[in-house]
Amino acid sequence: MQDPHAAPRRFLRLLAAAAAAWIALFPGAAEAAKPAAKKPAASARPAAGTISTKYRFKKPRSVRKSTKYIVLHTTEGSSKGSIAKLSANGECNYVVDTDGMVYVIVDRSRVAYHAGLSMWNGQTGLDSVSIGIEIVGWHDKDITAAQYAALRKLLSELKAQYRIPDENVLTHSMVAYGNPNHWQKRKHRGRKRCGMLLMLPAARTRLGLLKKPAYDPDVKAGRLKDADPELTKILYTPMPPAKAAPKTPAAPGTTAAKPPSPAPDNPAPFASNVIGPKRSAWDIARDQYDAPTTVYAFPDGTSKRGDQIKNWNKMPAGTIVSVGPAASENANEGLLTIGEDGTAEDLAGDAMAATSTYYFAPGRPYAAGSTLSLADIAALPKGTKVLVDYKVAGPVTAKVPVFSLCGSKWNHPDTYYWTSAGGLVPGDQVTDRTIPRGALVFFRK
Ligand SMILES: [Zn+2]
Repeated sequence: MQDPHAAPRRFLRLLAAAAAAWIALFPGAAEAAKPAAKKPAASARPAAGTISTKYRFKKPRSVRKSTKYIVLHTTEGSSKGSIAKLSANGECNYVVDTDGMVYVIVDRSRVAYHAGLSMWNGQTGLDSVSIGIEIVGWHDKDITAAQYAALRKLLSELKAQYRIPDENVLTHSMVAYGNPNHWQKRKHRGRKRCGMLLMLPAARTRLGLLKKPAYDPDVKAGRLKDADPELTKILYTPMPPAKAAPKTPAAPGTTAAKPPSPAPDNPAPFASNVIGPKRSAWDIARDQYDAPTTVYAFPDGTSKRGDQIKNWNKMPAGTIVSVGPAASENANEGLLTIGEDGTAEDLAGDAMAATSTYYFAPGRPYAAGSTLSLADIAALPKGTKVLVDYKVAGPVTAKVPVFSLCGSKWNHPDTYYWTSAGGLVPGDQVTDRTIPRGALVFFRK
């Protein structure tokens, strides 16, 4: 007779091996991997939704011209590290901690860099039209009762102030899109799963959000390919009819939001972090596949970080993938490199020869894709930098200030200044005084 515990034991051994590999690569990871210290007793806790200004991002940010959406995120990391990182980079307007405490990072009226490469209903660059709220937690785990209460209070205040309808409260996974990569040949939805469980009807109801979008407008219009149907199923599960909405909120600590059970012919969608014939590194790690914080433990016992892997075609089945906390929620997808990130076709896909794709080969003037033949593009040397879906303006001179060319995008981390002498300089590494005179500015459309 088969030992009924063999499979779970094998799984635990795999898990332990992956954890050991991860800890070996990152000294200090063992500390971070420990369960969070016990929270103080309920009586000592702040009331859920109490706003603390303790962690405020210190640099100035421009005021948004309009506010149409609220975008919800999960930090994918523990409280302390997440809040420090988000504060340092100004990567959201608010953080909701596990105990319900709300921290202001960037003032609600100002731009926070939270959405990265994003699109909703044809509009790109969601940072300039949305408020970003990070919730300490993980995309595939329910948030705490205190977080539900705090977020509900915060949302109701913001919805009222900015007249934002419930269906415009979205998650990062709904608006993030990816440029083509090794696995996806087209621009696609599914770059991130950030915040996805907050779109399930039970979670929405608990947050006081009674309406949600019925479908992905950009996939429907053909602007993006749906690269993650499992995610789509969760995001667009319809709300129950109004009368059927539960009247009593779930008791604190119970799990209100659960992913729908998979159909029998469909493997459990989020169960496996093991590479197999039908499960790639991208399927498991999404846009963190090549991050230094993602670790691949190979069946032969060796391991590598995502940024150490050169050939994505040679990933052995059975490799265990551990996605660590990312250095940044919005790892810059703007600038890609031929040879490191893939071929020009991998990186730009359909847009390879477009007017909005720009190539910067070492030691040469830059070229728009539309000015090159397909043979020229295929022959671009390794190390050529690529920007997809960008606009160019300039040059920046004393009479033509950069603000007149690209507005508030002038100091975004994914805006680049190019001169033939100095190459590309990211927008977050310049001040208005240090922009190279005569530089062209490349910014996202
Ligand atoms: Zn996010």
